[in-house]
Amino acid sequence: MFEKSAWIRLPRNVVVGHDVLSQTAAVVDDLHLSGRPLFVTSPTPRTLAAEPIAAAFESRGIEPVIVTVESASFEAVERVLEAAREGDVSYLVGIGGGKPIDIAKMATDELGTAFLSVPTAASHDGIVSNRGSVPDGNTRHSVAAEPPLAVIADTGLLANAPWELTTAGCADIISNYTAVMDWRLAHRLKSVEYSEYAAALAEMTAEILVGNADAIRPGLEESAWIVTKALVSSGVAMSIAGSSRPASGAEHLFSHQLDRLAPGEALHGHQVGVGSIMTAYLHDGDTGIWTAIRDALESIDAPTTAAELGIDDDTIVEALSTCHTIRDRYTILGNGMDETAARAVATRTGVIESA
Ligand SMILES: [Zn+2]
Repeated sequence: MFEKSAWIRLPRNVVVGHDVLSQTAAVVDDLHLSGRPLFVTSPTPRTLAAEPIAAAFESRGIEPVIVTVESASFEAVERVLEAAREGDVSYLVGIGGGKPIDIAKMATDELGTAFLSVPTAASHDGIVSNRGSVPDGNTRHSVAAEPPLAVIADTGLLANAPWELTTAGCADIISNYTAVMDWRLAHRLKSVEYSEYAAALAEMTAEILVGNADAIRPGLEESAWIVTKALVSSGVAMSIAGSSRPASGAEHLFSHQLDRLAPGEALHGHQVGVGSIMTAYLHDGDTGIWTAIRDALESIDAPTTAAELGIDDDTIVEALSTCHTIRDRYTILGNGMDETAARAVATRTGVIESA
């Protein structure tokens, strides 16, 4: 008997392109959202994006509540919740890089309202996905919230974001290769639910990005266009899968562990990219997949070594050999690597210097 069922929740409007920030109010109309919005933003995006959007709303007689957050924390989520209740707001808009968007998602999960994403940096696939997380003591607290109802990605704004944020977004997408390898492995060994559509979409997204690597250059609005569309596709793959599996495998565990061992040293996407080089090697040995990932990262100016991440070799080895404990997600790391093996992989792939 056929008993499967699934909900695939996707953003309704994805608006990408030049000067689309000015279309925010039109997007809100199209979604039939009414009432007062709350903008969650951080200092620079506030000036660049939140205030211009607020001005457009004010000219229509709506005064948004604006909450500026400095860091991703529970305290910030609490502040947003409090402001939302006091201001009697009816929906949330996350405006900025990863932090404000993650915080807006967490708050939305609590409030049960609609949520719109206005990324000002194409730095990771969380701008589109339904996943959000903030550090929680020694771990991370994650929610699988609803995906944003709309994504408004202004390529003019995104192209002017610091270049390393864009290369981090690219590296996050390139890591789909190893995420999907881990997913297939987990499916075969642990019967983890697997979607061929989602896996193919995640891989194709990485392929298109790598195929266009030559067009990804600082200050080019075309680059922002390519990267943003890839981030949207990755997010859609996660929505289809109903999990982050298409875009998150052992390379993400490695990055989360670095966040604990060396907080704030490197960007999420950059850490994930370096992790991807090593986990590709674990999957396929010397077949060349790991070198293809490394070369792709290099071609878009993303780090490929510990030194380029600004993290010392021992921390890399520790993260690789302990990150399997972070969450119950089966990957190529299995029950964990011993330190000698982790050091050997990191050395072989050129991530750390040979001793
Ligand atoms: Zn990621």
